[in-house]
Amino acid sequence: MDLRLYDTLTKDKRVFAPIDPSKVRMYVCGPTVYDFAHIGNARPAIVFDILFRLLRHRYGEAHVTYVRNITDVDDKINDRALRDFPHLPLNEAIRKVTEKTEAQFHADVDALGCLRPTVEPRATDFVLPRADGKTDMVTLIGQLIERGHAYVAEGEVLFDTQSMPDYGKLSGRRLDEQQAGARIAVDAHKKHPGDFVLWKGSSDNEPGWDSPWGRGRPGWHIECSAMAAAYLGTTFDIHGGGLDLIFPHHENEIAQSRCAHDTAVMANYWMHNGFLQVEGEKMSKSLGNFVTIRELLESKRFGGRNWSGAVLRFAMVKTHYRSPIDWTVDALDESSKRLTRFRQTVEKFGARAGGDVAPAFLERLADDMNTPAAIAELDGLNRRANEASDQDAARQLAASLSLLGISPDMEQRAPGNELFDDNIRQLIGSRTAARANKDFKESDRIRDVLLAMGVVLKDGKDTDGKPVTTWEIAR
Ligand code: AMP
Ligand code: ZN
Repeated sequence: MDLRLYDTLTKDKRVFAPIDPSKVRMYVCGPTVYDFAHIGNARPAIVFDILFRLLRHRYGEAHVTYVRNITDVDDKINDRALRDFPHLPLNEAIRKVTEKTEAQFHADVDALGCLRPTVEPRATDFVLPRADGKTDMVTLIGQLIERGHAYVAEGEVLFDTQSMPDYGKLSGRRLDEQQAGARIAVDAHKKHPGDFVLWKGSSDNEPGWDSPWGRGRPGWHIECSAMAAAYLGTTFDIHGGGLDLIFPHHENEIAQSRCAHDTAVMANYWMHNGFLQVEGEKMSKSLGNFVTIRELLESKRFGGRNWSGAVLRFAMVKTHYRSPIDWTVDALDESSKRLTRFRQTVEKFGARAGGDVAPAFLERLADDMNTPAAIAELDGLNRRANEASDQDAARQLAASLSLLGISPDMEQRAPGNELFDDNIRQLIGSRTAARANKDFKESDRIRDVLLAMGVVLKDGKDTDGKPVTTWEIAR
């Protein structure tokens, strides 16, 4: 059975053929870490987690590499650091913001049943040339200048869009259209208003790295070009993200990567999830319908109750990934009821997730991840199991749910817990090690990260006098 995927670049659904089936490679743009992730941010995490699982199922777990970056340099991060930690040196304040937010993000997507990507590079580790020789941003920018695709103007390095004949192909935007309405005053130093920043100078209260173009910081797009090449090479199989990233972010990633490496394509399949809105409206703080993953899991803000990670995940995949989702209390209620029915069947038959996935279910998923059609197959299996006492159907139901990242008991568990606990235990382990090394700065830092996750530590001693740390959720 072929796997078919829709490609935003060629605008068609094609049979997926990896460049090297023993090494399938996918890159997805990750979060900018300055605040709690909202439920819209959960969509790409879940959608590409399902693709990751499907690819692993098909090509074998050891043969799929999934890279999702962490954007830890961004002006929004600086602003947050200055606001929240005004008395700390800037770099320390930034680190506090990004590490705390990254830990929150992990706890949230873990609770939604997402596997960790194979690698999660942080942008700040790829700004300057690296000891291991992996691609970095400064070298890439240098190559673009050398090849005549970038120029220096007023302390910035800009990509020269006119140097690339097919710039704009992904989004279907033409350069001459971008001329109209451009902010001429701001862009006076640009050769073309569509030219975008690869490198910009930093003032003293902005983070900066010493580069051939002075102390500065990278533009957003170059981060992903560098990290994708660092782990996946100059051309790879799949590149993903939300619909809003098509322009300018992915368009510019393509321009940078193709021009720096002189390749015909950056990735063979460009995949984009549709947008999520809440109760019929765009999510926004001012409308009061802005809801974070954490609030859904742990508070009663949405629909007067909290929701398990399994219900949130199920509600997300009931809609095809390219369609818009309307996130409503009713949809969550319905998901919760349906999952309960599935769980009861799986329990009744004592079915385990290890068996074979239902062929019809797999066929639907292989058709550009048609999750709504795949879930309709689950309803069929559930009926067959109950009406015909069909043990095999119950087993296939459990296995198929598991391929969707939903274990039958996940829905019963209190939200967040097991994976959240693991994450906390890991952090406590690192803190204990830091304390043993008398690195109290590090141990305090980890304590603050945990505090930000709502976890309070208690240090004590066990009966042998060995230090032990216990924890509880702050109330
Ligand atoms: P950001 O933190 O804004 O860079 O977004 C991280 C990821 O979430 C990107 O892939 C975005 O496309 C995606 N995203 C942001 N808002 C939404 C939304 N309302 N619906 C679906 N995806 C979204
Ligand atoms: Zn990106």
